[in-house]
Amino acid sequence: MSKKLCSADPKASYLAAQSEIDTAVARVLASGAYIHGPELAAFEREFAAYLGAGGVAGVANGTDAIELGLRALGIGAGDQVATVANTVTATVSAIVATGAQPVFVDIEADTMLMDAAALERVLRAEPAIKAVVPVHLYGLPCDMAAILAATRHRGARTLEDCAQAHGSKIDGRIVGTFGDLSAFSFYPTKNLGALGDAGAVAGGEAALVERVKLLRQYGWRTRYVSDEHGRNSRLDELQAAILRVRLARLDRENAHRARLAALYTAGLAGTPLQLPALPAGRTHTWHQFVVRTPLRDALRAHLERHDIHCSVLYPAPVHRQPAYRQAATLPQTEKACAEVLSLPLHPGIGEDDVARVCAAVREWAPA
Ligand SMILES: *Cc1c(COP(=O)(O)O)cnc(C)c1O
Repeated sequence: MSKKLCSADPKASYLAAQSEIDTAVARVLASGAYIHGPELAAFEREFAAYLGAGGVAGVANGTDAIELGLRALGIGAGDQVATVANTVTATVSAIVATGAQPVFVDIEADTMLMDAAALERVLRAEPAIKAVVPVHLYGLPCDMAAILAATRHRGARTLEDCAQAHGSKIDGRIVGTFGDLSAFSFYPTKNLGALGDAGAVAGGEAALVERVKLLRQYGWRTRYVSDEHGRNSRLDELQAAILRVRLARLDRENAHRARLAALYTAGLAGTPLQLPALPAGRTHTWHQFVVRTPLRDALRAHLERHDIHCSVLYPAPVHRQPAYRQAATLPQTEKACAEVLSLPLHPGIGEDDVARVCAAVREWAPA
């Protein structure tokens, strides 16, 4: 019986750093400080240094990072926010939580990322759009030069959704430093993952990051006195300590992901599968290795029979889901959602595992 392969394995990430994580957890438990203590302050400093960002505010999860980031940018009721529909629902639920309305932009056929030309058209048609949330999906950076040109021209703010792109770069510059603010999730299966929920907002402008720090704790500038309406969205000391351990390993793990992705690309060449696009100058961090085929469900069932369990990110575009239904016309988005399949790729996977997946795919689709 061969080993079961899945699209993610957070326990393998824990085991790979077990003694360091156990030591960090014991240190926090013995410290007596469990919320907003020295571990969070250190993680915020270290993650800001990693990004080369002006500042970082830890929050409770990635959804809150998007919501509080948008609120810090002044987004609220009566505003519209443009984003894509082939993302996790969280991107959209965060926009709705600010009181703003989501407006969906179609994606590029090859990269499956926000189409800057479509964004231009939407911005021209909808003057109430005050912010744009591009999503660096699967670890591939969006075309930020084109997106920023479109948003600046219209006076809209930009918040990058970096939840799947910790360490991704465009011409050597790391994502999370292009927009006015950027949002990260540290959900356990992300490239930088906690062992529970966590998230962060990063930004170059200190006043914006400080505003997120107000909003994440009841709007308090002084303890027990709310300057504005905030809420509870805190990143706790245990998760912050675990994230410090994982951050130190992030580049090594991303390099491992890149090696596996190169093996997939070579091993699947010549099959009918559409392989991930990689435009020049962009450094992919391979949160997901996503192939496309109109026969996606058949391929998925075939791989299941080989004990290879693949995810579909995401089967239903957000504008087709009951909670967020809209009559938007997004042909590329709908085509992508019907065709995408994530092959197993994470730090717990080895080169032999990739070879096994490639062999199983070739058996289904002999070249
Ligand atoms: C995971 C994710 C989020 C939400 O993060 P949570 O920590 O689960 O709230 C938002 N956007 C994208 C693209 C994600 O992958």
